[in-house]
Amino acid sequence: MCDRSLCQVVFFLPLGKAYSYGIPSHLESRVEVGCRVRAPLGSRREVGVVVALGGEAPEGVKDLEDVLDNEPVFSRSLLDLTRWASRYYLEPWGLYLKAALPPSLRQGKAPSFPKERWVVWQGRGREKPTPRQKELLDKLKPLGRVPLKIVISDWGFGRDVVGRLAAKGWVALEEVEEEMPLSFTLAPRKDPLSLTPEQKGAYDRVVRSLGTFAPFLLHGVTGSGKTELYFQWGELCLQQGKGLLVLIPEISLTPQYIKRFTARFGREVAVLHSGLTARERLQEWLRIRDGRARVVLGTRSALFAPLEPLGLIVVDEEHDTSFKQEESPRYNARDLAVVRARLEGCPVVLASATPSLESYRNAMGGRYGLLELPRRIGGTLPRVEVVDMTGEKALFSRVFVEGLRETLEAGGQALILLNRRGYAPFLLCSSCGQALKCPNCDITLTYHREPLLLRCHYCGHTRLPVDRCPECRGEMRPLGVGIQRVAQEIQALFPGVRIGRMDRDALKGRRAHWEVLGALERGEIQILLGTQMVAKGHHYPRISFVGVVLADVGLHIPDFRAAERTFQLLTQVVGRAGRGGQGQAVIQTYMPSHPAVVYAARQDFLGFVREELERRKALGYPPFSHMARVLFTGTRREKVEEAASGVAEKLRGRAGRLEILGPAPAPLARLKNRYRWHILVRGKGRRDILALLGTLPQRVGSVKIQIDMDPYGVM
Ligand code: ADP
Ligand code: ZN
Repeated sequence: MCDRSLCQVVFFLPLGKAYSYGIPSHLESRVEVGCRVRAPLGSRREVGVVVALGGEAPEGVKDLEDVLDNEPVFSRSLLDLTRWASRYYLEPWGLYLKAALPPSLRQGKAPSFPKERWVVWQGRGREKPTPRQKELLDKLKPLGRVPLKIVISDWGFGRDVVGRLAAKGWVALEEVEEEMPLSFTLAPRKDPLSLTPEQKGAYDRVVRSLGTFAPFLLHGVTGSGKTELYFQWGELCLQQGKGLLVLIPEISLTPQYIKRFTARFGREVAVLHSGLTARERLQEWLRIRDGRARVVLGTRSALFAPLEPLGLIVVDEEHDTSFKQEESPRYNARDLAVVRARLEGCPVVLASATPSLESYRNAMGGRYGLLELPRRIGGTLPRVEVVDMTGEKALFSRVFVEGLRETLEAGGQALILLNRRGYAPFLLCSSCGQALKCPNCDITLTYHREPLLLRCHYCGHTRLPVDRCPECRGEMRPLGVGIQRVAQEIQALFPGVRIGRMDRDALKGRRAHWEVLGALERGEIQILLGTQMVAKGHHYPRISFVGVVLADVGLHIPDFRAAERTFQLLTQVVGRAGRGGQGQAVIQTYMPSHPAVVYAARQDFLGFVREELERRKALGYPPFSHMARVLFTGTRREKVEEAASGVAEKLRGRAGRLEILGPAPAPLARLKNRYRWHILVRGKGRRDILALLGTLPQRVGSVKIQIDMDPYGVM
C-alpha cells in the first residue's frame, strides 16, 4: 500500500495494458481522466492518456512528467467506446485512442493554433462607403464575419479596402482562435422542405426516441428523401442543444454533398475525412470539441469525433464496406456507431437503399426499428433491361449501344460501370495458356495500356509486357475486359464524346474524384465511366442512361458475400439513372438468372434478401452466425503452415460449440512475398469467439497472427 496519488496511463502504442504512474504534487490539480500526459516508458518519454485515477502502486513506480491538457481530450464515453473496440476487435486500446485524435495531438502538441484575423460586420459606419467598399459590405453582411484571408484571396479585395472600412467603423478586425471552417460557403441558407407522409412517419419515430438509445434501419430507395430527413433531425437536435454526427463513405463525401449540409447548417458543419491536412484536422477537431460545430460530416474515423452531447448518429450507405477499417486498429464504424449511440444514450439511424443483410435481419427481428421510404421523390425508378451476353461477340450489345446513343443525342448524360481496372485482367499465352504472374504475390498481373504495363493490384509490382511466352515462345495476348478497353471502344463508337474516368488508375490524388464529379455536374463530360466508385456519387439529375458492361465481375470471388455485394452494386448504380425524370439501365451478363442480377434489375431488395437469407441460413454464414478470421503470414511457407496447424489444434481443443474451419492456405496464398494461411472460427456467440481468440499471441516465432472479427473479405 502506498498513500501517493496514482493514475493509469494508456500510451498511443501497441501495448496490451495500462501503466501506473505517480502524480507529483505540482501536477495533482491538473491530472484528470481523459487528459494527455507525458511519462517515462523504458528509456523513452511517451505521450498517453489518463484512463483512470488511483490503482495499486507497483514496485519502483515512476512519476508523470507533465500534463498536456487543461481539459480532457477524451470524454468518458469516448474512453468507453475505444476500450470497447479494443476488447471486441482484440487490438490494443492505445491504438484506438490514437486513431481518435488528430495527428498533432497524438504527438503531444498543444490543442490550439495561431489566431486568425476575421472581418466582422458592424451594422453601421461613420461615413458613406465608396462603391468598392459597399461591394465588400454587401458580401459580408449576410455572413456576419469572414476570415480576412478569404476577403483578400478569394474575394479579391485589397487590404486597403478593409482598412478604410475599419477606419469608418463599418467593420472591425478581430483576432479569433479559429481558422476558416472547411465547409465555409456562400450558399444561401435553405429552408426545410415540407415532408411527404412517408418521410413524416420516419421522422416522428426517431424524434420520439431522442434522448434515449434506439437503433433504426432506414431503408429508402435512392432519391427517396433520406438526406432531407437527416437535415430535419439535425435541426431538432441543434434546437435541443445537441449534435448530429453523420458518417458517410469516403467516396460520397463530395463538395456537392458538403454544400448541401452547409446550405442548411452554415458554420455549424465540421468536415472530417482522410484528405485533410494535419492542421485542418486539428482545426475541425477543435471546432467540434469547443461546441462551435455541432454537425459533423465525416468518413469512418469521424466516429470518434469529440461531439457531445450527441443528439443523433446517422450512418449513410450503411452497407458500404469502407466503414470497415482493414488495417490495425481494425474496426467497423457502422457497428461502433451503434455502440457509441448506446454509450451516449441517443438514437442511431443506419440508412441505405440496399441495407446489409446483418442490419436488415436485425430490423426483421425487431432489434432495430424499421423505417421505410419506398418511393423516389420527383422521378421514377429506371426501366432496366438485362442482356444475356452468351454467344455475343462484341463488348456492347445492341441495346446497350442504342440506349447510349439515344441518351447522348438527347443531350443527356450516361454512367457506365465495369468493376475492373486496367485494359485486360490477364496477358495470356495463346498456345500454352500461361498468364504472367506477380513475382511477389500469388496472382496474375493486370494488363494496362495507359501506360503500357503489367501491374499487380495487390503489391504494386510492375513490369513491361512481353510479346512471346517465356515458357513456350507462343504469342501473348490480353484476355478479358477492363475499364481502359471500355473507354477505348466507346470513344471509337462515339468519336468526340467526352468521357470522365473514375477508377484508381485514372484518379491521382485524394480529391481527384471530386474533380471528375464536378465536371459531370457542370456538363463538361457526357459519360462517366468507372469501377464501383461511380455507384456511390450523389444526385446527378441529368444521368438518364446507366450501362453495366459486365455484371458478373464480382460474382466469382470466393467470398460468401459475393452475391450481396454484386446485388448492392448493381442496385445502387441502376438507381443513379433517371433521378431527374425517366431513366434507362442496361445490365450485360453471362448469368442472367443469378439472383443478384435478377433482383437488382427489378430493384427488388426484399426479394433478394429473402432468397439470400435462405442460402446463408442453409450454409450457416452470417447473419446466422458470427465469424472471425485468424490470418497467419510469414516469409517461409513451412513455418506459416506449421504455426497455423499448431494454433488450429489448440483452438479445436477449446472450441466448445464453435466451429473451427481450416487451417488452409488463404485464397490469396502469397501477398507481398509473405505466405498466407488462415483459420475461420464460426459460431452463434460472439462472446465465445472472443474468449477463444482473446488468448492468442500476436506471433508464433517469425509468423505474424492477425485476428479479423466480422471479416468483410476472406481473401
Ligand atoms: P436520398 O438521400 O434518399 O437519395 P434526398 O434527400 O437527396 O434523397 O432527396 C432526393 C431529392 O428529393 C432531393 O433533390 C431533395 O431535395 C428532394 N426532396 C427530398 N424531400 C423532399 C420533400 N419532402 N419535398 C420535396 N422534395 C424533396
Ligand atoms: Zn504483387
